[in-house]
Amino acid sequence: MYSQDSISGHRRGRPEPTAEMLAGLACLICGTDYRNAPDPEAVVVSHRDDKQLLACHGTCARMACGSVNGLNETPLPLTERVRAHRPGAS
Ligand SMILES: [Zn+2]
Repeated sequence: MYSQDSISGHRRGRPEPTAEMLAGLACLICGTDYRNAPDPEAVVVSHRDDKQLLACHGTCARMACGSVNGLNETPLPLTERVRAHRPGAS
């Protein structure tokens, strides 16, 4: 569940959300990259700049927004999130 790459290498304390997290491509709490996860169960937990911020269903979601189910909102499909994250790719 935890990705060492995304946790180490940053200063201690509250980690800054990565670009992937802000694009809804990775869990806001544990940093799991949903592009690599085979069957991610991500839920919307917050918003930033009109984008959905996602976290894993369960513990991560509860840490992010207080509910294991996140907000009552459907995440954008992963392909849409990837496309929005890389506007230059065609
Ligand atoms: Zn997570």
